[in-house]
Amino acid sequence: MKLQINNTFSKELPADKNLENSRRQVTDACFSYVTPKKTENPEVLHVSDEMLNELGISKEESSSSDFLHVFTGNTVYQDTHPYAMCYGGHQFGNWAGQLGDGRAINLFEVNYNNKQWAVQLKGAGETPYSRSADGLAVLRSSIREYLCSEAMHHLGIPTTRALSLSLSGDKVLRDVLYNGNPAYEKGAIVCRTAPNFIRFGSFEIHSARKNNDILKQLADYTISQFYPEIKSSGKDKYLDFFIEVRNRTIDMIIHWQRVGFVHGVMNTDNMSIMGLTIDYGPYGWLEGYDLSWTPNTTDAQHRRYRYGNQSYIGLWNLFQLANALYPLVEEVDPLQKLLEEYNPIYEEKYLDMMRGKLGLKSAQLNDKEIIGKLEETLQLIETDMTIFFRSLGQINKTDSNSDAIGKIKEAFYSEIEYKGETKQHWEDWFKLYIERLQKETLSDTERLTYMNTINPKYVLRNYMAQLAIDKADKGEYELINELYTLLKKPYDEQPVFQKWFAKRPEWARNKVGCSMLSCSS
Ligand code: AMP
Ligand code: MG
Repeated sequence: MKLQINNTFSKELPADKNLENSRRQVTDACFSYVTPKKTENPEVLHVSDEMLNELGISKEESSSSDFLHVFTGNTVYQDTHPYAMCYGGHQFGNWAGQLGDGRAINLFEVNYNNKQWAVQLKGAGETPYSRSADGLAVLRSSIREYLCSEAMHHLGIPTTRALSLSLSGDKVLRDVLYNGNPAYEKGAIVCRTAPNFIRFGSFEIHSARKNNDILKQLADYTISQFYPEIKSSGKDKYLDFFIEVRNRTIDMIIHWQRVGFVHGVMNTDNMSIMGLTIDYGPYGWLEGYDLSWTPNTTDAQHRRYRYGNQSYIGLWNLFQLANALYPLVEEVDPLQKLLEEYNPIYEEKYLDMMRGKLGLKSAQLNDKEIIGKLEETLQLIETDMTIFFRSLGQINKTDSNSDAIGKIKEAFYSEIEYKGETKQHWEDWFKLYIERLQKETLSDTERLTYMNTINPKYVLRNYMAQLAIDKADKGEYELINELYTLLKKPYDEQPVFQKWFAKRPEWARNKVGCSMLSCSS
């Protein structure tokens, strides 16, 4: 296996001079060299064909022992020096100080077909940033990250990617619900990739430590490597950078809202400076449309990271980034102004996105009202978000109200509740919607085709990932491949996979791993 190695991060930024793998505060450095842990009995369970292509690795090479050993951390690829990155972050609204790659180890960067990829193992052992934890990952959370990051990519959502999912052969102790019931689980390693893994918290840590030299080096590196379109200099360069990060963050969150993805832990250490979805932990997908829903039981009390709050948190996190970049700008007003623009930009883009979900190509004055009313109506009775929007495309301009409702009823979890005031609200909404459709020039079939490119048919429902996990725990890995294959084409009708276009089964309603997830992974 010959890779086109092109390390930039570790070459251009300051390294920790201490080479000992001991847990500590790492100052004056962006990363620490560390060797991944040798594992007991590594086994590759799944490989992403697309990522193989992206990295210039052939299918044959992916089944070699070379591949197995490099991507489980058992062999260090020739002339490379793995490292863990230093970052800080705000967790659940509070400054948490140094966090860093506690269980991620960067292997190297590859430049192939003019694309730069940082290649990283998650769960490959402890690092100076591991704090009180073990640096390992379990199979359940690794399957979730592996499948979901690739699924997000195929949904057209900016995300980190995954190359491979492997078992380590080691046992890992976890207390899933943090309730004093630890148990051993299968250890696993995901090899994930992205242009870089730099987070908002990567800037925050140096700013908090008043280390403006490293802060500037990191910002200059990030801009020249990953934002080459920024040509300005001095303060303007950092302001232009902030504008880009802000806009990408908005775009990413709008995509999440479009498909009903709830990240679950939008701490600033989990916010990518590239606007990529990163760190798939206690994430979840909306089943019943519910603005107050979060899958993360660790956040159950305040629901800070609930579906309906993700845009606000995006802004809150950008505020922390602006604070971190302040020493490079030294003026509050321009940063403040860029933050003030967030809400109007978000609202306009959200409106456009929702128009798309409704199949509206033109813009009309009452669109905001129709969309707002829909959001309220969707929450009156439990209505499956994915099935509702996918079915909405079936509606014709000439449909009566009852025709229309007949076409989306499948999305209701309990039809018995569809009565009285709720029924009235739905009827009122469809009246508005059908009248609105009549102002559109697209034909019914054209609109359906258009809507099917925006409203996915298949998403990684929480219970689907859990089914794959339950099977994998028993040593059966076929479902991982089935879901991986299904989710490559989320917008296509795939008759062989029709069974996955279904509401969440009742057994999964309150099941751990489905609707309830913690940060324990
Ligand atoms: P997360 O909430 O998963 O983004 O993790 C927050 C911080 O905890 C990051 O610095 C992680 O590297 C670290 N962390 C999470 N799990 C582990 C683990 N099992 N071992 C070491 N560090 C961990
Ligand atoms: Mg994280």
